[in-house]
Amino acid sequence: MAEVERKVDVVSKVRADLPDLAFDSLRKVFARKELAQMARVGLTGFAAAFVLLVISGQLKTMAGELVAIWIVDGYLLGHMMLLRRRHKLVFLVGAAVGLILGNLIGDETFYVAFSFTAAGMVETCAAALMLPGVRSAKELLQPKVFVQFLVGPCIVASMFSGMVAVFLLQGIFTSHPFSSFSNWVISDALGFLIFTPVTLVLLSGEWRTLLEPGNRAKSTLLLALVAIVSIVIFSKTSYDDLYWMLPPLAFLAFRGELSTVLVGTLIFITISVPLTVHGTGPLWLFPFATMQDRILALQLFTVAALSIVLPITVLQTQRNALLSALADGQRRFRNLAERSEEVLMELSADGMFKYVSPRASVVLGYEPDMLRGHSVRDLIHPDDRHELAAILAQTWDTGMEESAQYRFRRADHEYIWVSCFITAIPSGLPGGRTALAFAVRDINDAVIAEKTRLSEERQLRDMVFIDSLTGLRNRRYLDSKVEELFDSTTHASSSGAVAVLFLDIDYFKNFNDEYGHQSGDECLKTVGQCIAATLRTRDLFARYGGEEFVVVLENCDREEAALSAELIRAAVESLALSHRGSPLNVVTLSIGVAHQDLQQPVSAAELFESADAALYMAKRLGRNRVEHAQSGITTSSQLA
Ligand code: GH3
Ligand code: MG
Ligand code: MG
Repeated sequence: MAEVERKVDVVSKVRADLPDLAFDSLRKVFARKELAQMARVGLTGFAAAFVLLVISGQLKTMAGELVAIWIVDGYLLGHMMLLRRRHKLVFLVGAAVGLILGNLIGDETFYVAFSFTAAGMVETCAAALMLPGVRSAKELLQPKVFVQFLVGPCIVASMFSGMVAVFLLQGIFTSHPFSSFSNWVISDALGFLIFTPVTLVLLSGEWRTLLEPGNRAKSTLLLALVAIVSIVIFSKTSYDDLYWMLPPLAFLAFRGELSTVLVGTLIFITISVPLTVHGTGPLWLFPFATMQDRILALQLFTVAALSIVLPITVLQTQRNALLSALADGQRRFRNLAERSEEVLMELSADGMFKYVSPRASVVLGYEPDMLRGHSVRDLIHPDDRHELAAILAQTWDTGMEESAQYRFRRADHEYIWVSCFITAIPSGLPGGRTALAFAVRDINDAVIAEKTRLSEERQLRDMVFIDSLTGLRNRRYLDSKVEELFDSTTHASSSGAVAVLFLDIDYFKNFNDEYGHQSGDECLKTVGQCIAATLRTRDLFARYGGEEFVVVLENCDREEAALSAELIRAAVESLALSHRGSPLNVVTLSIGVAHQDLQQPVSAAELFESADAALYMAKRLGRNRVEHAQSGITTSSQLA
């Protein structure tokens, strides 16, 4: 908005700086241009009406009182449709002058000239008012508009002007008023029917389709056929021949483009009317009393011919438009489907492929034809089949859009991860569905990358909790688990009890001294494995640091804890790992046990301290033994 205001401001400033004179002359130039255009339009109306009237007048002179087809009003209506609103009146005024002049030159009295012109003008104006704004023959021949055109200009306007003419010219026409009226109405109706679309084709540029490379040969051939048959039939006087005119006209209607059909009709009339008027053609076989009657017969024949040709053309045009819209839609869809990263599929309610886009060959390795008629379920990984079937059924039932990720079997039998978007295709009836639309996208690389990332992350997380020497859980892991355990027990008011076992290798410094540090490491691993072997998988076990280990037993009573500790001690001793630095000669463990009922308030730190104190007691009492911390009193057991 601000931008527009700024521009307006600049323009008004520039305007203020310019002398008024400049604007005045500009306005004059525009006014002159408009005036020149008006004059051109008026002159065109005048010249065209004059020339066409003279041509019609020639035909009329030959035919009798009335011409077979009245060209002028059909042309005026067609031309007026293409003019701007403000030019229409000027055009009509020009045409009226042309008509009066043309009639006067044709030796009519001023009254007759005026009457003809008045009837013509009334007719053209009424026709224009009754027809909606169309700007091409193609629009005019749209079925709805065409019916309006038939009823409005061709019937109502022609009858109206016929009444005006018969009223104004009564006593001047020699034939019966009704015959004059019918002649007038039919010739004007034919004029509209043929010359309005022809004028539109010629002036709107639609005639150029005749010259399009694909059309040129066909149009030339069709038009030549119509011309030759018309000449042959109307230059002879033989009974059957008239009907031979219909096949080429019908052929033209079926095969020709709109402009070809209209030009062909024009050719037929241009040949048949003058030849009939001249005295040849099938209509001379009939014993008409007057030339006017013969002309009426020709008119009726032309009406019959046109009532075959034009409806076919209208329907053909409509059909061609539908076909090209269909082809357009199909081409657009194919282009999009082929260029889409996704494979587009249409599935029946039971999951059978109805359509598969060509992209399937790139993403999945299947040519679309290979999949058609098969079930999508056969190509889904067995583990994902159930879930996808449920999603398909749900989409079909609810009409909702769903998306899913699953493994799809490619043509090379490898499963890849795909994501898909599923939606029901509405049938047009309320709640009805015709098929499922299924858009499949290859996300294999992304899924594999994500899985690798997750597994690496898990490995890293695990490594943080693993002791690198023994492969056992480390102290960090133990701390986190103990924290969880004490948290959950306080919150879940567990009725269980927990036991903490502190284990320490006896005289280990001496072991290192005797056998070297590397053997010490090996010993640590062996003892670690030995302890682990005595435990249940759910027991918590970690290397606490140095040659110390911790075991936490959940939901175990005092006896179980004591038994467990004793089992460990005995197991390590029975390994009989030689230890020259120990008075016991083999590697042994001292174990401190603390047991706690979790219903009593106690912290992990207190429990660990008690276990440590019990261990210290075990060391003091000679090692290779289990000591129990019990409400401050430490009890001992040694089976060695
Ligand atoms: P005690 O019977 O009283 O437990 O005597 P100790 O010698 O086992 O106890 P101390 O705490 O004096 O010595 C522990 C030794 O454990 C000291 C250190 O050299 C050794 N040690 C700690 N970590 C490792 C390790 O990772 N590898 C090896 N080889 N030795 C270790
Ligand atoms: Mg120690
Ligand atoms: Mg030790």
